[in-house]
Amino acid sequence: MKAEKTILPGSTLGMLGGGQLGGFFAEAALRLGYKVCVWDPSPNAPAKRFASISFDGGFDDKETRKQFTRLVDCVSLEWENVPASLVEILEQELRVRPGSRSLRLAQNRTLEKSFLTGQGFPVADYEVVDSKMELHNLSLPLPWIIKTATEGYDGHGQWRISDRKSIKSVLNVITGDGPWVVERIVPFMMELSVVVSISSNRNCVTYPPTENIHEDGILHISISPGRIEKSITESAQRLAREVVQSIGDPGVFCVEMFLLNNGDLIVNEIAPRPHNSGHHTIDTFSVSQYELQVRSLCDLPLVNPIRNGDSVLLNILGQEAMTLLKPHVANTVMGNDYARFYFYGKESVRPGRKMGHILFTGSDNETLLKEAIEIHGQISNQT
Ligand code: AMP
Repeated sequence: MKAEKTILPGSTLGMLGGGQLGGFFAEAALRLGYKVCVWDPSPNAPAKRFASISFDGGFDDKETRKQFTRLVDCVSLEWENVPASLVEILEQELRVRPGSRSLRLAQNRTLEKSFLTGQGFPVADYEVVDSKMELHNLSLPLPWIIKTATEGYDGHGQWRISDRKSIKSVLNVITGDGPWVVERIVPFMMELSVVVSISSNRNCVTYPPTENIHEDGILHISISPGRIEKSITESAQRLAREVVQSIGDPGVFCVEMFLLNNGDLIVNEIAPRPHNSGHHTIDTFSVSQYELQVRSLCDLPLVNPIRNGDSVLLNILGQEAMTLLKPHVANTVMGNDYARFYFYGKESVRPGRKMGHILFTGSDNETLLKEAIEIHGQISNQT
């Protein structure tokens, strides 16, 4: 890695991955006076709308890598499936934050779990199996959630088993070549996520925990701040900070956790990037998670995010986007006083794909939640 120096506005920031997270990063960077170069094999990746230059080559394309390396002053990423081997090569010449170490952890649930347990952080009880047949011999108490060690996302690559009788039938549907992480299903009270930004001198700033509601493993609604007691807010922020400090890479991270009935918190997973549950930080905080990503990448000061309102984020998934864009629905829904609309510019719709979000902002998240549920009813009924 190059010497730690401040990379000032005017420089070109490289972004690996061109999804909505990369797009919001680019918007923040442009406002601060940087140029952004996006590399994503998909020619129509949303973040390319904000890029001064972009590349469509595969992540294994040497020529693209050469040109990208020549153009950019430093690199960040927005997708954990960017090959860690590419990041390792880029790191030889450029500052990449977060780096290959965090990326490798996030890409492999087995490594992530053993890292977390090795550092003494609480996680759901789990076992790793290399072959499906090993499921028959596990002593881990049921029910289980089985997760592929690599390449799982948004509920893909996950299967639930409630009793021993179902193991046989699940063996036929489990995909992948293994290993798989088998976790005990945790009867959590709430899912929380905490975004942390950490600088090269290990200074950390965090946002308050967001409360997340998933449907079929996909993030549906995020409520900020989460409806929890102050002491839990503090413990969640402390836990997230400690996890991120123990990884030791500068950047922005999101630590997802479960809050149990007894008030205990356990870590579910770590994302080495801003998070979809943190989009609201653009609208309801003095500094967004994307600006902090730019700041931590460029060694600019990290400032404490100051909250200026409550929010409820409703993800627009798959076909819901098409319903929302029907004129009569758009007119009704976009007339909502609390709502701010974000469409990511994705050209193809797939079931469950995150197409955009609606952020309801105001001073009371119970009211905002009602609005979000009402609008969700309108866009999901017509799909
Ligand atoms: P993940 O991909 O690990 O974030 O899992 C997706 C979603 O599945 C989580 O957000 C939870 O809603 C649920 N989930 C994952 N692991 C567990 C677990 N051990 N116990 C209960 N629910 C889980």
